[in-house]
Amino acid sequence: MNSDDRTLSRWHAELGDNQTMNAPDPTIQTSNNPLLLDWLAPYGLPPFEQARPEYFESAFKVSMAAQRAELDAIAANPEPTTFANTLAALDQCGRLYNRIELLFSNLTVSETSPALQAVQRTMAPRLAAHENAIYMHATLFARIDSLYRQREQLALEPQDLRLLERVHLDFVRAGARLDGEARLRYGALVQELAAECTAFSQNVLADEGNFLLELRTEADLTGLPAFMREATRAAAAQRGLGENTHAVNLSPSLTEPFLTFSARRDLRETVWRERSLRGAHEGANDNRPIAARIMALRQEQAQLLGYASYADYELADRMAGNTAAVLDLLGKAWEPAKAKAKEDRAALTAMAVSLGEPTPIAAWDWRYLAEKVRAQKFDLDAAALKPYFTLDNMIAAMFDCAGRLFGLRFVEQRGLALYHSDVRAWEMQRADGTLVGLFLGDNFARPSKRSGAWMSIFRSQSGHNGGTLPIVINNNNFAKASPTLLSFEDVKTLFHEFGHGLHGLLSQVRHERLAGTSVLRDYVELPSQLFENWALEREVLQRHARHVQTGEALPDALLDKLQAARRFNQAWSTLQYTGPALIDMALHSLPNGTAVDISAFEAEQCRLLGVPADIGLRHHLSHFQHLFAGPGYAAGYYVYMWAEVLEADAYEAFREAGDAFDATTAERLLQHIYSAGNSREPAQAFRDFRGRSPQVEPMLRKRGLLSQ
Ligand SMILES: [Zn+2]
Repeated sequence: MNSDDRTLSRWHAELGDNQTMNAPDPTIQTSNNPLLLDWLAPYGLPPFEQARPEYFESAFKVSMAAQRAELDAIAANPEPTTFANTLAALDQCGRLYNRIELLFSNLTVSETSPALQAVQRTMAPRLAAHENAIYMHATLFARIDSLYRQREQLALEPQDLRLLERVHLDFVRAGARLDGEARLRYGALVQELAAECTAFSQNVLADEGNFLLELRTEADLTGLPAFMREATRAAAAQRGLGENTHAVNLSPSLTEPFLTFSARRDLRETVWRERSLRGAHEGANDNRPIAARIMALRQEQAQLLGYASYADYELADRMAGNTAAVLDLLGKAWEPAKAKAKEDRAALTAMAVSLGEPTPIAAWDWRYLAEKVRAQKFDLDAAALKPYFTLDNMIAAMFDCAGRLFGLRFVEQRGLALYHSDVRAWEMQRADGTLVGLFLGDNFARPSKRSGAWMSIFRSQSGHNGGTLPIVINNNNFAKASPTLLSFEDVKTLFHEFGHGLHGLLSQVRHERLAGTSVLRDYVELPSQLFENWALEREVLQRHARHVQTGEALPDALLDKLQAARRFNQAWSTLQYTGPALIDMALHSLPNGTAVDISAFEAEQCRLLGVPADIGLRHHLSHFQHLFAGPGYAAGYYVYMWAEVLEADAYEAFREAGDAFDATTAERLLQHIYSAGNSREPAQAFRDFRGRSPQVEPMLRKRGLLSQ
């Protein structure tokens, strides 16, 4: 769970081939709105330099009307209903809207501004209403439904049948079968939900932006290694503070190492408390009433759709299938991790005593003391490792791994007009030079960007009309420095997001709805978490981890220590993650109609679960964006562990082959997982790759939660 990401992939938010875009209305082409004109930049990239906030509202208005006209035309087609004139046509419609929506949603998370946030607040309910209107299109649904009912007799190819079943389910789950009052109420409800989720997310960003801890004296910097002095200086400069000033903001790329290295217990406590309190301050940015309202709306949504709870609704469209399967898996980790944490706590307490620090230890001590114990036990100093992990070398490492596994190469394209000067672009090519897609990397933290790390797209792969090449982006939040040095956790995050990136870039399916990362939520983290394994491979590190000053390869002794320390403190990270995952399930499993005070609920759950106070939760509900920034990960924070079961077992296939780059295994991985998108049922895709169903033991072993 080292990557805390949000994969933004919604089928209606995918985009097709710019060249084949339907021009909905001749007057649009003559308008001055650059978002509505043909996008003539290389690769069909958006006109970033002209994409000013004021253009979005009218661009949305025009493109939504265009998509509605396209849908009406499909629904009103006098010809008999066929797969081609209904499902395939639907899969290709809305191109203008989709490309604008993707540009907009990417900018709102990666490079926002007060003006763009204002547009976002205006547009969120309108976009939700538009999407709702698509699913509520009665004559369109009637056509889809009639095909669905005779699907066994249509002799469709497997991928076409999959699209029909998938789209039918999308419509049903979005309320297409509702009528009368319920239909109207559902429409109002999804709009209000969209507005509340937007407010939630903006409040978190505001609280993160409002906090800055200045480190004024040498004493304030005690314990911070060189890279942190550099990073805190950069954070101060970014806020316009003078030269030689240092500061910590609430970006995890600063708070994590600060809590790990700062010897100032009082400052660690300040940072820890401020981070925990995001979204829970009285006043304009208070997310507690917003989360309560979101819960009420979700319960009503589940009620309207015929489910006993929101979790039941979400789980019906997941690989896990039901909440019991999720609780069973989380339970396999929770109690063993608590037992293991007891041993670790004893070692940390002894370390605190030896350092003259107070006991019992607190949540803001755990990372700091764990680092001291780790350094002692494994003779491994995280700060000494860091000079070997420059961002550029680690980007080269992930490209190299993708190249060796899948026969790819990456060629940087300079001089493209992108939305920020930090963003870089690479062509992903096959060995023979054929272009497969464009990969963008936006790696640095800044106040205009959401925290965390995620993959997204500007354009989806699809096979219609000769094919459309994907444009994929990875966002990270590394602290920018020259050169930028990564922690080993950062390296894994980089690889993780690139695993998602490859899932989008390598997609080879016909229909956009089934392309790339548009898979079930508890399957989508398989390609990403799996890719992290190559960052730990000895030969990869020997080749690419080179000292920033001397160019010397990571010494064998350090490599041995790094690998020996892999399972250290895993109980802590398991509990930090599993606690919020269990609370998420409990919250969304409340029966419909249960009012909830999220602070009281969280406190009660912590008591019931026995969350250790000195470990705490990775996310508190007041800023838990996985749950409340949108529906994607609601009743779904568990998906990382679910996919980790798949991932750990999948990587065993390479171990069994005796080679991390075994060509036959890599070919199967490409065919059944990385290129397959949602073209087949995920459990089947896994079995096709592995030759059997997944087993849970490799995941538990990886976390040190099995005795063997
Ligand atoms: Zn991920």
